[in-house]
Amino acid sequence: MVDSFKHKGLRQKLVENLILKGIKNEAVLEAIRKVPRHWFMDSSFLDHAYQDKAFPIAANQTISQPYTVAYQTELLEVEANHKVLEIGTGSGYQTAVLCLLEAEVYSIERQLELFKKTSLFLPKIGYVAKRLIFGDGYKGLKADAPFDRILVTAGAPFVPKPLLAQLKVGGRLVIPVGDKEQVMSVFVRTSQKSFKKQEFGNFKFVPMLGDKS
Ligand code: SAH
Repeated sequence: MVDSFKHKGLRQKLVENLILKGIKNEAVLEAIRKVPRHWFMDSSFLDHAYQDKAFPIAANQTISQPYTVAYQTELLEVEANHKVLEIGTGSGYQTAVLCLLEAEVYSIERQLELFKKTSLFLPKIGYVAKRLIFGDGYKGLKADAPFDRILVTAGAPFVPKPLLAQLKVGGRLVIPVGDKEQVMSVFVRTSQKSFKKQEFGNFKFVPMLGDKS
């Protein structure tokens, strides 16, 4: 796996572009500056890796656009040692960004092909999640709940109740909600029984799909 000066230079340009687009969180920008995004894509896509675009990965899925990864991660307000649940491991790129923020990362993927590929690949390149799970993100991860942060990286037609239930008080859920287009939404658990909802811009994600089993 090569990460050359050229790649690093392209990443620096990408980060400058993200700053122009409004990303401010220095730790998030630093993580994007560090993770070799081209490793998470097929080699034929090398030239595309540092454009601010989503790209196809296996199983009809995509690696999210860098801006989207940065924006969601910024909204998540991750701190070191936070227990973070990610729904939609996909290529593992977002997982790697969360690992660099020193979160304890749990990530669920429902496509077996992607789950197998990414769970071998991530530790090999030095990003060690606490747990990578093959399963249905609609259910969350009860066994390891509650979480400080939950991040959904696929378009959710509605907000799954288990995800709200598995948030700590004070915790945040970042989730794009909608069918064809999604509204980036943040739920903050303000007490055992109450949540505060905030809405941000519109995004386009691949759909969050039901359990295959
Ligand atoms: N974070 C990923 C984004 C991948 S796209 C990355 O950086 O590459 C969204 C991912 O969510 C896809 O891999 C898709 O298979 C997965 N997904 C869709 N529905 C899901 C569900 N119900 N549970 C878990 N993962 C799901």
